[in-house]
Amino acid sequence: MSQPHDIVIAGAGLAGAMLAAELGRAGHRVRLFERRLDPRRADAESGRSINLAISVRGLHALRAAGVEETVLAEAIRMPGRMVHVEGREIFSAYSRDPERAINSVSRSGLNRLLVEAAAATPGVEIVFEARCVDADFTDHERPAAVFEHPDGRRERVEADLVVGTDGAFSAIRAAMQRTGRFDFSQEYLAAGYKELTIPPADDDRGPHGRFRVDPNALHVWPHGGSMMIALPNIDGSFTCTLFWPFEGEHSFATLEDADDAGIVRFFERHYGDAVPHMPTLVEDWRRNPTSPLVTIRCRPWHRGRAVLLGDAAHAIVPFYGQGANASFEDVEGLVTALASHDDLDDAIEAYEEDRIDNADAIADLALDQFVDMRDRSGSRTQRLAKKGSQFLGAVVPFWWTPLYDMVSFTRIPYAKALAKSRRQAAVLRRIAALGVPVVVILLTLAFIATASSES
Ligand SMILES: Cc1cc2nc3c(=O)[nH]c(=O)nc-3n(C[C@H](O)[C@H](O)[C@H](O)COP(=O)(O)OP(=O)(O)OC[C@H]3O[C@@H](n4cnc5c(N)ncnc54)[C@H](O)[C@@H]3O)c2cc1C
Repeated sequence: MSQPHDIVIAGAGLAGAMLAAELGRAGHRVRLFERRLDPRRADAESGRSINLAISVRGLHALRAAGVEETVLAEAIRMPGRMVHVEGREIFSAYSRDPERAINSVSRSGLNRLLVEAAAATPGVEIVFEARCVDADFTDHERPAAVFEHPDGRRERVEADLVVGTDGAFSAIRAAMQRTGRFDFSQEYLAAGYKELTIPPADDDRGPHGRFRVDPNALHVWPHGGSMMIALPNIDGSFTCTLFWPFEGEHSFATLEDADDAGIVRFFERHYGDAVPHMPTLVEDWRRNPTSPLVTIRCRPWHRGRAVLLGDAAHAIVPFYGQGANASFEDVEGLVTALASHDDLDDAIEAYEEDRIDNADAIADLALDQFVDMRDRSGSRTQRLAKKGSQFLGAVVPFWWTPLYDMVSFTRIPYAKALAKSRRQAAVLRRIAALGVPVVVILLTLAFIATASSES
């Protein structure tokens, strides 16, 4: 490390808490401010189980933070998707390698664990119920953030480095926007989301124990323009998420004025095999909010010595399950940049250069994945295409790596993964134009070459 810095972080969510722990461990003095209650307090619990899929990138960062084992002990492996089509369940592995799986992890549990890690790190101080309301970048050497406390008191806190990890609607980013020459875009999907629940079974003697459906899969009910997914929780329940358009056919508007029986009838028609497992369907539907889905991009990610990280820098739609994974990679990026540059401005530049194009790439990939899951996951052609891609990855691994594997099971930078998948697809199109016999001969030769190189 060059020298210890005095660092202020706004937002103790997944990224901010991990960053505080890591920077504290590296010897910096860290003050972390969070607008919500301390998640370790009993009254901070929301009561609902909400989960996240964590894959290789996130796990790598969690290992560096010393909490990977604890997280995995409470996680559920999901080696593939279980697609529900007309009452049938069709399993489709994420990778040809059965060891590869994404992991369903409790979001609140993970946040609490990271806050505990930060709080236990010497040099880290955490202030809860302090909402960032402004930031000031006029003094290049000493940027400041302004926090409001529950009694209305405003506190201006200066530091060598200010980091905005205050989520998609970041106050630090809003202050940067007001300084000019700051690119910003915000794009809402026509679809939003609402969470429902499949509770644990009454007894644990069913085919899946206390889980009502197979816990080792991410379940998808595709329906053209809308879909429902479900991820397992360690307590035997599943968190279901509806991704439906706000308006139009099969939309949230469709059920706006429906009575209880109308809601149940609609779900029976479209999610027939799930409804018997959803005894709290109507209650969940009425209680849980419908929230929007947004992609936020901005450039640059810094103003002087204030930087953005995580969703504050790049909010993406959740269909690749990479928002938190990408945010954890940002943490590793910033920590490495600070450790390897004597000059703070150089470190900030290096961090941004390393991460910004990758964030753009995963934002694009996540938008594509929505269409893939919603419109194509029920299709036989799509399943064959995925199998074909996995087959190519096995017979010509030096040339072909399935995109899903690159994103979820490697740490290849997102932008490189996206570029490589586009190159692969272009070559495949050129080969396909040569005709079926040539493709078969090339694949056979490749298979022989790979098999002999492995023997
Ligand atoms: C429905 C859904 C499903 C998802 N599923 C996945 C998934 O499966 N896998 C995955 O990797 N990602 C997933 N994500 C994305 C993931 O949740 C985010 O990318 C991740 O939480 C980003 O972490 P963060 O710390 O940057 O932001 P957040 O987790 O949003 O944390 C921001 C923190 O800042 C605090 N804060 C906000 N404003 C202020 C303020 N003004 N002052 C002080 N504090 C403030 C907030 O209270 C919060 O604690 C999903 C997102 C959604 C919406």
